Amino acid sequence: MSNPWKLDKDGEQLLAKADKVAREVIAPMAAETDEKAVFPRKAIEAMKKEGLLALVSDKKVGGHGQGLRAGVAVCERYARECPSTAMIMKMHHCGTAVLEAHGTEALRRQVAKDGALTTLAFSEYASRSHFWLPQSTSAKTPKGFKLNAAKQLITSAGECDIYVWSSKPAAAEGFSSIFAVPAHSAGLKIPKPYSGMGLRGNASAPITAENVEIPSDHLLGPDGKGFDVMMGIVMPWFSLQNCAVSVGCMEGALDRAIKHVTSTGYAYDNSKIADLPQVRQHVAKMRCRIDMVRGFLLDALDAIEGSRADAVLRVLQSKVIGSEASLEVHDLAMRICGGAAYRREVGVERFFRDSRAATVMAPVADALYEFIGKAACGMPVF
Ligand SMILES: Cc1cc2nc3c(=O)[nH]c(=O)nc-3n(C[C@H](O)[C@H](O)[C@H](O)COP(=O)(O)OP(=O)(O)OC[C@H]3O[C@@H](n4cnc5c(N)ncnc54)[C@H](O)[C@@H]3O)c2cc1C
Repeated sequence: MSNPWKLDKDGEQLLAKADKVAREVIAPMAAETDEKAVFPRKAIEAMKKEGLLALVSDKKVGGHGQGLRAGVAVCERYARECPSTAMIMKMHHCGTAVLEAHGTEALRRQVAKDGALTTLAFSEYASRSHFWLPQSTSAKTPKGFKLNAAKQLITSAGECDIYVWSSKPAAAEGFSSIFAVPAHSAGLKIPKPYSGMGLRGNASAPITAENVEIPSDHLLGPDGKGFDVMMGIVMPWFSLQNCAVSVGCMEGALDRAIKHVTSTGYAYDNSKIADLPQVRQHVAKMRCRIDMVRGFLLDALDAIEGSRADAVLRVLQSKVIGSEASLEVHDLAMRICGGAAYRREVGVERFFRDSRAATVMAPVADALYEFIGKAACGMPVF
């Protein structure tokens, strides 16, 4: 397959494996994942078999040692078939990046060697999209920490193995601390399953923690320094991969829309929908939008890898640029497919529903514009 993401040789081979899983496993089950709102376990198992759950884990612990560029590439590929699966993997890469930086070797090996699935458990009913201000608590115990929380929307809830979890600090000053919480920990509960309009296969359910005990070495980074982990590690991984999922969704919707308008038409003169110049103009607008975002994303990767002065700005922009373009492109895809777009078999409405979550996932688009505006005016962002 082509290598638009400029991956190294190993990365290219791993993307080819991701492409195979996308074609052979994810695509055939994508409709069922959405319609029945089932977690795509078979796809996750296929990725595990191909070593793709260890994509971004360090080679020293048994991973492939790939970075954010490869995470972006595979998430974009998965999203073209099933945005739910792509989102699960995006969260897994974010969680893995935090574990790689601050986790014990045992936790890191659990991901890289045993194929453990991770996710971010940040959002809470009490702080909503303002994830940098968690209100859940942590307290020191003789053996480690005790956690109490009411998390509101956690991808892979009840399906993953390790939650990368935010809380108020146990003892130190600061906004937050980050912990690795094993999913089997006593006291974790999922009060109700996820039933959503989009990303229906994500298992993005609430989670409560009641006096959950975790060992002391499951604190990720210093107590009270969770904000640094969120901004230094999670933000780039989350934002750029979110943008990649938006690109994959747009590609998926455009592909299906083009199939529809070039194959369906009007019997009275044998013309196709795509013979209408207005429809082709909309297709062109969609193509231009997607390629602009892809070009931006490549530049954002360069900025981060090269520690460029504009790297932070690119991180803040990436999620909002991808998600806003995605709203526009999916509206156009629905429009050119007309009434047929409402039928599931055309395949566009699913991308339309799934893609909308990108704007409201924290940091929400409105907050990002505020951050970018402050940065542009030389004001402190937080
Ligand atoms: C499908 C799905 C999966 C998710 N998975 C996860 C996950 O795995 N882990 C996780 O931690 N979270 C997850 N989330 C939660 C997500 O990250 C956000 O926390 C959540 O979607 C925000 O919704 P809310 O209703 O809490 O937002 P609210 O905070 O209530 O915001 C509502 C609206 O208010 C406005 N607003 C809020 N704050 C600001 C601001 N600072 N500036 C300007 N305007 C503002 C915006 O218009 C915003 O859209 C998921 C969400 C969804 C939809």
